Amino acid sequence: MALIIRIAAYHELAEPDSLGRTWVGHFPRMTQKEAYEAGRGVWKLGPRATAERFALIVGGDKVRAVVKIERWYDEPDDRRSFTGTVLDDSHPVHKATYGLPDPSGSASRNPIAYAELAEEREFRVCACGCGEQTQRDFAQGHDQRAIHNRIRQHFGGSTLAFLEWFDATIEAREAA
Ligand SMILES: [Zn+2]
Repeated sequence: MALIIRIAAYHELAEPDSLGRTWVGHFPRMTQKEAYEAGRGVWKLGPRATAERFALIVGGDKVRAVVKIERWYDEPDDRRSFTGTVLDDSHPVHKATYGLPDPSGSASRNPIAYAELAEEREFRVCACGCGEQTQRDFAQGHDQRAIHNRIRQHFGGSTLAFLEWFDATIEAREAA
């Protein structure tokens, strides 16, 4: 699932908010970076929101920014904000949503909605533990890194020692 944040039309704020912003909302031809700044806070959110990995900032029923959420912050009045990386069209979730209508299909006036994105389901976290997202088991080259980390930690950096252990372990398992 992705978090959908539907921002209002552009308006200036009477005084800067907790993110130091003097304006919020969407306007024609805004950049992704501007949409990100307008959409990354400050919202009242259920616990479900902070489990999401992607946020789509929607303004005027169009996706204006696609963000990989990296960190949540507590803001005054039980509100929250996040920071993350604004994605570009090299990312499948961006490619599938940017510039298109709100994928939540929700007619509610609540600015917060959720959408199940097929492109997102393909994403998992790299199995090496680095936290990077990948469409495979590992991010590029991280399978090598995962193996070599183990060789370094448990076999004093000796690939030969690892292979000897591996072969002995397999042999014992197959004999069992
Ligand atoms: Zn990794």
